[in-house]
Amino acid sequence: MSALDELYQQVIIEHNRKPRNFRVIENATYVAEGFNPICGDHFHIYIVVGDDGCIEDVAFDGKGCAISKASASMMTQALIGKSEIEARQLFAEFNSLAKGDLDPDKDDNTLGKLAVFSGIWKFPARVKCAVLAWHTATSALDEVDIVSTE
Ligand code: ZN
Repeated sequence: MSALDELYQQVIIEHNRKPRNFRVIENATYVAEGFNPICGDHFHIYIVVGDDGCIEDVAFDGKGCAISKASASMMTQALIGKSEIEARQLFAEFNSLAKGDLDPDKDDNTLGKLAVFSGIWKFPARVKCAVLAWHTATSALDEVDIVSTE
């Protein structure tokens, strides 16, 4: 394992241990519930959109493996302050990254720290864990209440 892979693993472990924005938002603008039945990951995602169309707050709660939880935690941080259009763009980039279609070192992207998930495509069973929160957040914006990775 390279030093970089180890650094990435540490970021994921740290977010799993101390997830950011792990709470319920009462009266959120959008809420959706997402399942990954293969792994047992199950989250609610809460999104607050302000009058200017920007995402003011994002939170999640539920249960999941380290990968799904770290991804949800980092997603909440990445989405706060973004417009809905930027959020959807970021979701598309993250999805491509998780599937191995986007190389964060070569392709234009706005992923920033989320590039820690760049090796996840080598573990196909974990890709759904990594994308669950993102899939759920997008569904929330689409006003779809409940989604499954299957
Ligand atoms: Zn999982």
